[in-house]
Amino acid sequence: MALLPILAYPDPKLSTVASPVDKVDDSLAPLLADMFETMYAAKGVGLAATQIDVHRRIVVIDVSEERNQPMVLINPEIQWLSEEFVKGDEGCLSVPGIYDGVERAARVRATALDEHGNSRTIEAEGLLAVCIQHEVDHLNGKLFVHHLSQLKRERIKSKLLKEQREAARANKEKQAGKV
Ligand code: ZN
Repeated sequence: MALLPILAYPDPKLSTVASPVDKVDDSLAPLLADMFETMYAAKGVGLAATQIDVHRRIVVIDVSEERNQPMVLINPEIQWLSEEFVKGDEGCLSVPGIYDGVERAARVRATALDEHGNSRTIEAEGLLAVCIQHEVDHLNGKLFVHHLSQLKRERIKSKLLKEQREAARANKEKQAGKV
């Protein structure tokens, strides 16, 4: 197993629309294991393959407190969204350190394949409902910042770009032996 680098906003690769998985078989197991390891290490509740630069419709989720209820959603499709909305602070492993209020459907029904290729229907509410909507957005090249105002999004972009430049410079100086 390996920790995978997570793409950070505004990396344009995060806007890629992921392709459906044609066949679910054991060849996906190493990728799924790496995705779970990466998600748990980063203390996330969900990770879409898009975020690790794999543009296939694969999501891993664990919204449990104990971090012992892993869920695999392959080719997830949202079938129904409630008319009732909830607004909560949302964050994303690809938008580090930023949290902001996003309105989402309170309940959702989705279909997906599990890691064995079995079709399942998921009825979700609360954090799981939000998480499924957030992760399906990723597969469609969309981030939670796209639900915010353009002004907020521009501010977040500038802040993260500045942090990324500083991190790159620090890394370069370290490699050059200056630090
Ligand atoms: Zn995310």
